[in-house]
Amino acid sequence: TYHNEHFMNKKLLGGMQNEIEKPKYAMEMKALIRLCGNIIEEDELKKQLEQSNGNVSQVVEKIISKLMNQNIKESKEIEYTSDKFKREKEKVEVGEIKPGINLQGYCINEKCLASKAKLPIWINIGFKNISFISDKTCLICPDCKLSTITSIIKALFYNSEYSIRASDDLLPLKDNNYQVSYTIKSGLSYELNANKIRQHAKNIEDLRERSEYAMNSIEIKNLIIELQRYEITV
Ligand SMILES: [Zn+2]
Repeated sequence: TYHNEHFMNKKLLGGMQNEIEKPKYAMEMKALIRLCGNIIEEDELKKQLEQSNGNVSQVVEKIISKLMNQNIKESKEIEYTSDKFKREKEKVEVGEIKPGINLQGYCINEKCLASKAKLPIWINIGFKNISFISDKTCLICPDCKLSTITSIIKALFYNSEYSIRASDDLLPLKDNNYQVSYTIKSGLSYELNANKIRQHAKNIEDLRERSEYAMNSIEIKNLIIELQRYEITV
């Protein structure tokens, strides 16, 4: 093919650069950089493009599948670092942060250390629904084990797909996050829910579906239109 000959010629020249000649796959590179230059190094894009013999859509598909694998790895890393995170948290606050819903409140048991220190303490609820009135709670204190946590000041979702709704909210707020916290206002009632974050690509089939979806996305369509303007067939 043309590209192989081109490659051979370049090799025979022994690294000498032809000034007039455009760099190999210049237009394809330009398109790829526009599309994913902010997430993938230019050198890596060039390498991928050469490996795919200049087939832009193949490179894009590869990148998408690579990114999804990264997502899975990242969520695993979060689990590994959770211990470290807990230790850091313990320096300034009482209690542990665990996956799911965490509520921070005050214990009123006078004999409780957390209460004596006047420090708010974290209570782990886990992955479930919970509703409460922020200043009328009756939760078990992780420190003294009595139901003496009577007020909540903060909610933290850790590694969760969650929703939170205060009585003055029209709609619940839904999101998923590694770690996000909300101030709990005094006197309002709240409904909280947390579920485990679903794995990003369960299997190859799912990945293929996602790639196809991505290939049909507006960004890719625009890229293809642009490529066609330069008479590159995708
Ligand atoms: Zn206590």
